[in-house]
Amino acid sequence: MLTVEQAQEAVLASVSVLPSERMSLLEALGCVLAEPVVAGIPLPPFDNSAMDGFAVVAEDTRGATAAAPRGLTVVGDIPAGTVPGRRVGAGMAARIMTGAPVPEGADAVVMVEQSRPGAGGTVEILAPAKPGDNIRRMGDDVAARQTALPPGQVLGPSELGLAAALGCTHVVATRRPRVAIVTTGSELANPGEELKPGAIYDSNQVSIAGCVLRSGCEVARRLHAGDDEPAIEEAIRGCADADLIVTAGGVSVGDYDQVKAVLARLGEVKFWRVLMKPGKPVAFGSVLGRPVFGLPGNPVSALVTFELLVAPALRKMSGRQNCLPPTARATLLAGVRHEPGRREYLQAFTRYAGDGCVVEPSGKQGSALLTSAVGANSLLVIPEECEGLGAGEQVTVVLTAPETALDRGGATCGTRPR
Ligand code: AMP
Ligand code: MG
Repeated sequence: MLTVEQAQEAVLASVSVLPSERMSLLEALGCVLAEPVVAGIPLPPFDNSAMDGFAVVAEDTRGATAAAPRGLTVVGDIPAGTVPGRRVGAGMAARIMTGAPVPEGADAVVMVEQSRPGAGGTVEILAPAKPGDNIRRMGDDVAARQTALPPGQVLGPSELGLAAALGCTHVVATRRPRVAIVTTGSELANPGEELKPGAIYDSNQVSIAGCVLRSGCEVARRLHAGDDEPAIEEAIRGCADADLIVTAGGVSVGDYDQVKAVLARLGEVKFWRVLMKPGKPVAFGSVLGRPVFGLPGNPVSALVTFELLVAPALRKMSGRQNCLPPTARATLLAGVRHEPGRREYLQAFTRYAGDGCVVEPSGKQGSALLTSAVGANSLLVIPEECEGLGAGEQVTVVLTAPETALDRGGATCGTRPR
């Protein structure tokens, strides 16, 4: 049986980066740049004022103080978005707004707070300026023809903002993976339908789709098949337009667990079973030339195997450099017991606390207990051979939703009474 690391390695070795495509800036949010963004213009595109004030010849302000101000003739007004009308020569000043082009002749801007109106169309400068003061030089931020964003750059709000500042409307980025989800099980009903005797509602379809969307990927389709090989095969064949297929259920050793057989017939099963709890019966392979994961049906097992195995594959396909799930060290707030054998992942809430993280496992754990995962943002890792971890110990956590690790909210982790 593979360890989690061996399984992750096998997954990452067998999936490849998707082709890139041209997309609009906001479509590219969270995507990885495939072609560099090269500056067609310098940034800023022209010398401009960093302040509201007066464009002056610095030499004219030498020795200026409030007691001995320098009077200059105001020769113009330059709001942002306009072009200066005339040159500023010795003894002159032009009123200028933040972002407006610095007029020819001026070599400094005196901020308005260091001036006061003078008599007869003049301004009194109250402090000396040095050449270059309060001027943002052309190309200071980005030089023309410079690579502003390199391939491999993850595109967040700032990166997209920079592309927009350079006048780009589109970028070429790695395509978002499209994921098809097939839940299996003859006992499953869709939420909203009547619940017949012996049936339960299908929760995995929604929770796995949520994981896919949260990973920045698209849900290509959501299908369901009963525990019947031809139906499972038909559903999987219907996923040919997806980049990756995730099935849930039917990969255990029960009489009706037929997903593995279908995957083997349509393609190849590269591994089945990983030394982890929950999630041991997870399968990975390829069908229709696409990577496929057979996740166990228990709702918490499906979530944990998604984060540890499917999410890394999606990151690699998306062009990311770091594909393994992010981990952190944290101080354990409550002791946990463990039966030596498999590595265990407990649903837990990790939060930033002063100079480190603290982690609190949710209450009662169980692969079928979805409430144990409610409010959880991390998986507390219990090493294979240990017999438990004590309160106060430093432990490893896998962060599944780091954006929620604020210094509050832990009390809601797991809604079951402790
Ligand atoms: P399986 O992996 O098919 O043996 O399923 C294990 C357990 O998870 C069984 O109790 C199933 O009823 C349950 N299960 C399987 N698929 C789902 C699903 N999509 N939503 C909710 N529970 C499921
Ligand atoms: Mg089943």
